[in-house]
Amino acid sequence: MAYQALYRQWRPQDFSHMVGQEAIVETLRHQVQTGRIAHAYLFCGSRGTGKTSTAKILARAINCTHPINGDPCGECETCKRMQAEDFMDILEFDAASNSRVEDARELLEKVSFPPQFGAYKVYIIDEVHMLSNSAFNALLKTLEEPPEYLVFILATTEPYRLPATILSRCQRFDFGRIPAVLIQRRLREAAEGAGGEATDGALMSIARAAEGGMRDALSILDMCLGYGKKVDEALVRTVLGTSDRSFLFQFSSALREEQAADVLRLVDELISSGKDPQVFSRDVSGHLRTLLMAKYCGGEISEILSLTDEDAEEYVRESEKYASSRLMDMLDLFMHLETELRYSTSPRIALECAAMKCCLRTEATDQLALNDRISELEARISALQDQIASGASVQVERKSNEKEKGHSAPVTSRAGSKGKQAAKALTPTGRGTDEIWNEALKALKTAAPSVSGMLMMGTYQGSNGTEYRWKANPTFSVIAQSLNTPERKAQIEEALTAAAGVSCTFVATDSSEDQKKTEEASDESYLQTLKDTFGEEPVDVIDELPE
Ligand SMILES: [Zn+2]
Repeated sequence: MAYQALYRQWRPQDFSHMVGQEAIVETLRHQVQTGRIAHAYLFCGSRGTGKTSTAKILARAINCTHPINGDPCGECETCKRMQAEDFMDILEFDAASNSRVEDARELLEKVSFPPQFGAYKVYIIDEVHMLSNSAFNALLKTLEEPPEYLVFILATTEPYRLPATILSRCQRFDFGRIPAVLIQRRLREAAEGAGGEATDGALMSIARAAEGGMRDALSILDMCLGYGKKVDEALVRTVLGTSDRSFLFQFSSALREEQAADVLRLVDELISSGKDPQVFSRDVSGHLRTLLMAKYCGGEISEILSLTDEDAEEYVRESEKYASSRLMDMLDLFMHLETELRYSTSPRIALECAAMKCCLRTEATDQLALNDRISELEARISALQDQIASGASVQVERKSNEKEKGHSAPVTSRAGSKGKQAAKALTPTGRGTDEIWNEALKALKTAAPSVSGMLMMGTYQGSNGTEYRWKANPTFSVIAQSLNTPERKAQIEEALTAAAGVSCTFVATDSSEDQKKTEEASDESYLQTLKDTFGEEPVDVIDELPE
């Protein structure tokens, strides 16, 4: 006898052998028992979830003369004919390969002939969404006034591609993905039936890889059994080309610790062992996603992701070492890598590049620090411009001031005369407001890095003791708005309050108004400078310089 693929061997012959889909099976059994059969059924769901199997069982059950508990009896004459596939009244049609209207017409021509043996003539149309529009119209005509004996069972993975006119005439059943534990159980039966030995872990890996599809799961098991009778996790990984979990843990912790050399070594190991970068990148994404879920859901992931308790524990333990933002960033990088690899001609380099980006985060932080320094310099330049605008004499005064004080922060000296007074203000705890501001800044750097980054794009203007004012640099005037949003304002105020020991408020302003004033003022001060230099008496201007 020719070898029959496992998924064919294990295709359920009646409702009792179906795996999962209990609610659907229950409803259909009931319909068979009560004889309340619909004229059109629509079975939706992803591949391998049992749509076609259910359609076949239903077709036989409604034609069986003595159904038992809604299942075909397997004993009566029609059942025997159906088993021998010598039965004209069940017609199967694959719309994927017969999508033309002629094909549909040819099929529907036979509709007007009543069934020969059974009570119903059943049309099973697989992948029904593939039918052309005119084919749908032909089908619709039949669905509008179907003869008593006619039953359509339409199956599709993409119900949203069906016209509403068809959808509205069907009784719809949605087939969910089959839980991994149920798939594992059926795989165990199938492996033993084929005289193989398989470990629980191996079968679970197959079940998880099949993502709820029984047909895929049985096909993978079939491939594994093709290698030998003993199926373990290592064999499943070889067949699927996936990576071993300990390798993934090793890889992700190298990324987390930013050990670039280790990461590159692991990539080299991976490629040398013949693994596909694309499959690996998907594995890493899956691994990071599990870590992220472990971080938020804790031990519950064992149920959500069908992991063993031990594995779930390992994930939870590992996830605690990550900040969630870091995990998100890493996941983001690898998700992009997956897409990128589809078009990449040098997948290894793309993989290494993404991994390096994960590792070089510290340098990215350095970049942030650099940005901070640039904003600081911009603040100084802007301060100098203000100084120039308010006259050269001020500049000279300031210079000498700086010499006396040594290195003074430009941030405070820029704060204008009003700011300077305010900066000297003491808080109820007796500490200077500058000190409090700096302390709050330091706290924000860790508690709310983005807020602290924004604050670097402007300058502290001083405080009256409880209200702290800040002004955005001209190029970053939008930042003032962002900092005034309730959430960010609250974060800053919280940090200030904590540092000051009394309730503090925070106000951010942008420099656009100031700039107008400065421009007006600068004209006046220019005149003043001229007056200071030349006096108010008219001056003779001589073109030629004396020799
Ligand atoms: Zn029967």
